[in-house]
This record gives sequence, structure tokens and C-alpha cells, in this order.
Amino acid sequence: MRALVKASAAPGFVLQDVPVPSYREDEVLIRVRAAGVCGTDVHIHTWDAWAQGRCKPPFTVGHEFAGVVEKVGSLVTNVKVGDRVTAEGHIVCGTCHLCRTGNAHVCPNTKIIGVDRDGCFADYIAMPASNVWHLDDDIGFDVGGIHDPMGNAFHTALHGTELPGATVLVTGCGPIGIFAVGIAKAAGASHIVASDVNPKRLALAKQLGAHSAVTPDQAAEAVRAATNGLGVDVVLEMSGVPAAIHQAFALVRVGGRVQMLGIPAKPMEVDFATEVIFKGITVYGVVGRRMYNTWIAMQQFLRAGQFDPRPVITHRFPLEAHAEAIAAIQSGEAGKVVFEVSGER
Ligand code: NAD
Ligand code: ZN
Repeated sequence: MRALVKASAAPGFVLQDVPVPSYREDEVLIRVRAAGVCGTDVHIHTWDAWAQGRCKPPFTVGHEFAGVVEKVGSLVTNVKVGDRVTAEGHIVCGTCHLCRTGNAHVCPNTKIIGVDRDGCFADYIAMPASNVWHLDDDIGFDVGGIHDPMGNAFHTALHGTELPGATVLVTGCGPIGIFAVGIAKAAGASHIVASDVNPKRLALAKQLGAHSAVTPDQAAEAVRAATNGLGVDVVLEMSGVPAAIHQAFALVRVGGRVQMLGIPAKPMEVDFATEVIFKGITVYGVVGRRMYNTWIAMQQFLRAGQFDPRPVITHRFPLEAHAEAIAAIQSGEAGKVVFEVSGER
């Protein structure tokens, strides 16, 4: 089969012929139809310091996908051949303290497909049946293939927040921030301010329901105007940029909530006294998707047609065009980039 491989400890990917993966008796083999390309894949492609410290080539890249089940192991009861599926890409141990207390998303034994084991930029992937998530018939493989980053946005927007009627600031309108705008809108937020430096991404945020989509220097005024100077009830921090993180703390109201998804590239200074403590705010660190509350919420929002992520998918490529796909993300001009791996659209 074809697989996009991180072949060696150096920049780049190589499209190779490799054996179809073997699967255990509690796993399934999935024919990949669509696969989302993520910033993490770009880190692995460029072979930055994070990738060098984490990844052990050679391995197949990619962690966002949807496809059709081709084979099932003898112990599998919840999945059958022909099922249309996606999967939670974090494979957790199921037995540690965190897994057993409903916090599997922070299982310390997590193995991520396409990072710690072979991933989905390939004709086939093997997955534990317990990670498989069935797609409704009317959900296309393209939307199926971006459940992972959509799930990040659902987790960030919904966990511990009270969005009906809330005022919301979304800092950073990459694909995940744009999804978060649409989710906050669907969940009943009364006013959503979205900020980014990129006009194309602001236009997408507007399309998904932001009341105002502004550059960072305009965000304070937009929040002031929308909240009578109070500050927003909830900030969804989706950029990882220190300036935006400081702005999140500055523009949330006293007693509000800051949901932090964006990952700063290096350590940063925070004045905890003024930015966090005396504001009485709650800060929540987002890791992946809650298993499986986030998935259930995502399915219900999609099923009801409350949230449609399709406008965010701006670029589609075959696996052969992997260099163009990476370049599209690096350009900052793209929304979500997906590989169409096999089959018709
Ligand atoms: P992205 O890089 O496409 O989006 C970040 C956006 O922030 C960009 O559009 C950029 O223009 C914008 N930005 C830059 N400076 C800004 C500023 N001062 N104010 C507002 N916006 C600004 O990334 P993405 O794929 O959408 O992911 C968002 C973030 O979430 C990234 O930091 C990513 O690493 C992180 N992430 C975290 C998890 C997790 O589990 N915690 C999972 C996936 C991604
Ligand atoms: Zn665990």
C-alpha cells in the first residue's frame, strides 16, 4: 500500500510502498478515504525541536482520518466490515488512575497515531476497535476525516462553560478556532468576537457566525462594545501566541473562564496576581478530546445540523501532492487541508 512516511530524522516526508499493517485480534483494519492535515504534521515534516524530541522514524504520519472498515480481529464485537468510521487517535491504556476516573484524555500512557505509532496518511490503518467512532450515513468522509480537530474545538468550547447567552472571545482563527466560532454560535452564545491577524481566516470566522471578526489590536474595543466594558464570559484561546494569551486574561470578565487550547512555542511569563488570581478566573487546559463526552456532543451537533464545518475545508489534495498540502498550511492561506486518499469524493 501507499504510505506517507517520516523516513529519517531529517525534514520531509516520503511516499513509499509499505506492507498493509497487521492488526491484533482486538483491532480493525480501516481503508482510509480522507485524512486531515494538521499543524502537528507540519512540525513533523519540518523536523523541529518538538518532533526531534518526540518522534522515532521511520513511521507513517497522520492522525485525522475517516474510512471504511475492511477487516476486524476475532475479538471485535462493536465494529463490522463495511462500517463507515473515524477514530479517536489517542490510544490510552484504560487501566491507569486517569483512565479509570473519566480522564482518559490525559492518560500518561497515551500513544498517538502518526506520532508514536503508524498513522493514517496511507491506504490502510490498524486501530483498536475501542477507539473507532461510527459516522452517520449523511456525514461525508471529508467531515469524518476532520473529527479530531473539530473535537478539539468542541472540547474547548463546551467543557465547563455555560455558552447559552454567553459573550465569547475566540483568539486565533486557525481551523480549530474557526470551528470553535461555529460551535459557540450553535451552542447559543449571544455575542462572539473572533480575532486573528489573517483576513482570510477572519472571513471564515465571520462565515461561521462571529458577530465581529477583528485584528488583535481591535479586539479590546470589540469586547468593550459588546459587553458594556465588563469583558467576555468565556475566552477560547486557540492561537498559542503569548500576546493573544495575555489578551485572553485581559478581556475575560472578572470571574470568567479561559479555555486554553493553543500551545505556546516556548515558556512565557504570566503575571498570575493581576492576570489570573485577582480576576478570580478559571483557566482550563485542553488536551485532545474527552473520551467520549466530546465525541457524543460532536455527533449530536452534527446530527442536528446545528454546526456545519464544511466551509472550513479549503484545500483537497491526493497523497502524491503532500508537498503542496504542507505548503498550503505553511502559507497561512488555508482553512482546513485534507488528503483524499482513496475512492470517489
Ligand atoms: P493555527 O496555527 O492554524 O492557528 C493559529 C491562529 O492564530 C493563526 O490563524 C494565526 O494567524 C493566529 N494568531 C497569531 N497571532 C495572533 C494573535 N496575536 N491574536 C489572535 N490570533 C493570532 O493552528 P490550529 O491548527 O487552528 O491550532 C490552534 C492551536 O491549538 C495551535 O497552537 C495548536 O498547536 C494547538 N493545538 C492544541 C491541541 C491540544 O490538544 N491542546 C490540539 C490541537 C492543536
Ligand atoms: Zn490510562
